[in-house]
Amino acid sequence: SGSELLEEDLLGRHRAVLPNWLALYYSEPIEIVRAKGRHVTDSTGATYLDFFAGILTNAIGYDVEEISDAVRAQLDTGVLHTSTLYLIRKQVELAEQIAELSGIPDAKVFFTNSGTEANETALMLATQYRRSDQVLALRNSYHGRAFATIGITGNRGWSASSLSPVKVSYVHGGYRYRGPFSKFSDADYTAACVEDLRDVLQTSTSGDVAALIAEPIQGVGGFSVPPDGMLGAFKEVLDEHGILLISDEVQTGWGRTGEHFWGIQAHGVTPDIMTFAKGLGNGLAIGGVIARGDIMDCLGANSISTFGGNPISTAGAKATLDYLLAHDLQGNAAKLGDRLLTGLRELSTRYGVLGDVRGKGLMIGLEFVGPDGEPSPAAAGSVLEKTKELGLLVGKGGLHNNVIRLAPPMTLTDAEADEALGILGEAIAHTQEAGAK
Ligand code: PMP
Repeated sequence: SGSELLEEDLLGRHRAVLPNWLALYYSEPIEIVRAKGRHVTDSTGATYLDFFAGILTNAIGYDVEEISDAVRAQLDTGVLHTSTLYLIRKQVELAEQIAELSGIPDAKVFFTNSGTEANETALMLATQYRRSDQVLALRNSYHGRAFATIGITGNRGWSASSLSPVKVSYVHGGYRYRGPFSKFSDADYTAACVEDLRDVLQTSTSGDVAALIAEPIQGVGGFSVPPDGMLGAFKEVLDEHGILLISDEVQTGWGRTGEHFWGIQAHGVTPDIMTFAKGLGNGLAIGGVIARGDIMDCLGANSISTFGGNPISTAGAKATLDYLLAHDLQGNAAKLGDRLLTGLRELSTRYGVLGDVRGKGLMIGLEFVGPDGEPSPAAAGSVLEKTKELGLLVGKGGLHNNVIRLAPPMTLTDAEADEALGILGEAIAHTQEAGAK
């Protein structure tokens, strides 16, 4: 058909002028042209229930009046952006609100355009504050796509360069399903990881490390969930050395984990620095860093982001934040997360290919395995394709690329959760029967 030809053409043109490493999902990549609620429609007219929300960028769902109105009101002033050299009312209001929500004492906020820039800024603050270029990260981590953040990405598939402005050492604690401590209880796992942290500090650093950065639930790493409290136990060790704790909340913030507003709260600890992005803009480009005032203000030189905190992004973000608080989307994430986890755990008892179901709230990972428990990227690939065929978009990830990631908008309904469970059941059954290894 005509539209198929057009699509083929777009893919060919994409391949010709965009980098090879700009990965595309699906054997036949899709172009999303319209969206409403939790549904997106592609250029062939096919509609999908969106269970990846554009890698968690879409916290609320699509085409939400309150958010469109806030952005439109700013557009109507004629000012898309001038400069962050001038006062921007929405930026101040949003910073006040985020500082308050952060729980960090005397908090200040710096806005960026992405999670990568947020983490780069966090590293700049921590290394400057501590006068040290040594950083600890978790194995299997992902923190972004710039020079320092690639250096703290503990996943070879995403480590485009080993050259780094920071000296990084990796500790255990990120990915628990495999590895030397995989059979341990929660308490033993935490104890083993704390011992490893002490060991790495002793053997691989000069002690005066700037910071440890961690995702409370690893995102790209396959929604890997550490035991509650583990990062709190880490913080006790860090405090002995004055090492800062940076919580990367790019995926876990804004109530997505259901039980807490920030992922780090499951660890009973307040970090020194937090970074955020993705869901806050509900699709608009915004990120940022929250830090204790003395850390934020430790820079002696001017710093600026031309676009970070611009009026359009901050107006949209303020509307998103107000909406998700007013509608208790954290509570909805907890409720719908439980409903999905219960259904998925039931599926895992029926299908051997589904080796692990894990997650919190609307951040759920499904790890696929072969007959001997080995990682099965083919099975995950099969589920990705089959769910699309059946009208559901999901994500992929994990160190072995064998994890399906579920992260729908936090406005998800019971009926949509059940629809997704039905499709996932069918796709997993199909994958098991096809014997994908
Ligand atoms: N941190 C985490 C935990 C992420 O998941 C991501 C993006 N996947 C980033 C940082 C980088 O964010 P961005 O792509 O907006 O630069």
